[in-house]
Amino acid sequence: MAEKFDLVVIGGGNGGYIPAIRASQLGMSVALIEKREGGHLGGTCLNVGCIPTKALLQTAGMLNEFKHGEEFGIKTDGVEFDYEQAAKRKDQVVGQLRKGVQGLMKKNKIQVYNGVGSFVEPKKIKVELENGEEELEAGNVLIATGSAVSSLPGLEFDGEKVISSDDVVNMKDHYPESVIILGSGAVGVEFASMYNDFGTEVTVVEVLDRLVPAEDPEISTELQKAFDKRGINILTSTMADPESLEKTDDGVKIQVSAAGQGEQEETEEEGGSYGGEDAPTGDAGSDGDTLEAECILVAVGRKTVTEDLNLDATSVEISDRGIIQVNEFGQTAEDGVYASGDVIGGYWLAHAAGHEGIIAVEHMAGENPLPMDQSLVPRVTFCRPEVASFGLTKAQAEEEGYEVKESKFPFRAIGKALIEGEPNGFFKIVADTETDLILGMHAIGPKVTDLIAEGVFAKLVEGTPQEIGMSIHAHPSLAEVVAESAMAVDGHAIHF
Ligand SMILES: Cc1cc2nc3c(=O)[nH]c(=O)nc-3n(C[C@H](O)[C@H](O)[C@H](O)COP(=O)(O)OP(=O)(O)OC[C@H]3O[C@@H](n4cnc5c(N)ncnc54)[C@H](O)[C@@H]3O)c2cc1C
Repeated sequence: MAEKFDLVVIGGGNGGYIPAIRASQLGMSVALIEKREGGHLGGTCLNVGCIPTKALLQTAGMLNEFKHGEEFGIKTDGVEFDYEQAAKRKDQVVGQLRKGVQGLMKKNKIQVYNGVGSFVEPKKIKVELENGEEELEAGNVLIATGSAVSSLPGLEFDGEKVISSDDVVNMKDHYPESVIILGSGAVGVEFASMYNDFGTEVTVVEVLDRLVPAEDPEISTELQKAFDKRGINILTSTMADPESLEKTDDGVKIQVSAAGQGEQEETEEEGGSYGGEDAPTGDAGSDGDTLEAECILVAVGRKTVTEDLNLDATSVEISDRGIIQVNEFGQTAEDGVYASGDVIGGYWLAHAAGHEGIIAVEHMAGENPLPMDQSLVPRVTFCRPEVASFGLTKAQAEEEGYEVKESKFPFRAIGKALIEGEPNGFFKIVADTETDLILGMHAIGPKVTDLIAEGVFAKLVEGTPQEIGMSIHAHPSLAEVVAESAMAVDGHAIHF
């Protein structure tokens, strides 16, 4: 007989395991199905995304600090980079967090199944286990099957010469001496930053006319300046031609050429964090240059994972691009079937996935949660310098009809930034002139991925820049940039 649960969650990433915990707190009996080999929970984020990449970026950042050690009075002759150890440490961090998530499942009495979940009927889920299968009956279902790396015809991943982000984080004892990175979204620029710190020769190819094209244009300019200074070769407004790819004994060759207006417009429609970008590729034409490197890293976006679900057994609707259609509470067109995370589009970010999932299960439980508000999702990119933002840029706000005031405060006027040797970058706040309400924040510089949290909270509680300025910020701290930038909205910044 099929076992019965109040909630069956399909997918054990942030969009799945986090709401599973919340559902259990709300008194539901919960089953969680995860198909990843070894039954590892945590999805893309923990296994091949946020955590392993940031562990490697930590090593990259430390290497950079050692390179500048003498400036701080530390002689660093003889410092050597041991990639194998860096990769081992990354695996240890991942391993420890995997155990943590498993422990949380036990603590919250969530029944975990290691297998592939699919619909038999809207409320009946089949789990294909290693040995046999089981059927589960569900009061509600949450689909959180996430996303996977995707490539382009002609650039199929081989794990060696044409590689994906999964391949990068799984390299145990080798990193490339040279790499061409296709795409300058979050994944592209994080790996460009990391490999440059490792000493790899890096070329970034981006079809649009600027790096991190989903961000405020001034952030793109600042990042380009920083990358130029570091010797990263950046080719914007440039397309690579997949059909020209040639695998040689030493690596790869590919032709690139100037991107036309049409290709740029096509790409500009998309945008978003760690997935969902469009492909910066096309026919290289006759004016093409040839790029050569040990490998090519394709970071042009991800695809949703829905193929195993048998959605035909339900009324769940899915777009041409594979995005499951939901309302602001995560409800699909099928009664009692919800979805969260990358599979529903929006911002392809771990914290967005978890939050969407929590809203969904609270809605199932009749808890009356606030609906999902995309303008409150912090978008974070952990290249050096870091990039973070939420809400509208000045141009976007004006397009929406707001009368806008905007501040921009530089890190070079913040004592702590100079102490840390990180004087570049800035913090911007966009506010509505009429109501003083915050519409967005956009930052590049040290620890902005942490600093942005204050702005998101202020926006959530309908705080104003004046109120941020009135709250006392410790000195010397990087957080002072948020206060100064808030005061600068009305021209009252103190240190600039
Ligand atoms: C290189 C990289 C770096 C990133 N860095 C960051 C970062 O720093 N910060 C950030 O916020 N985001 C980051 N992201 C994005 C983040 O990883 C994703 O947004 C997040 O993992 C989405 O969570 P999810 O639960 O929706 O999907 P996933 O994490 O993809 O999880 C879905 C899970 O469902 C399982 N599954 C799929 N189909 C089935 C089925 N039929 N049955 C059972 N199980 C199934 C999959 O095996 C998977 O484990 C990064 C992504 C990448 C690729």
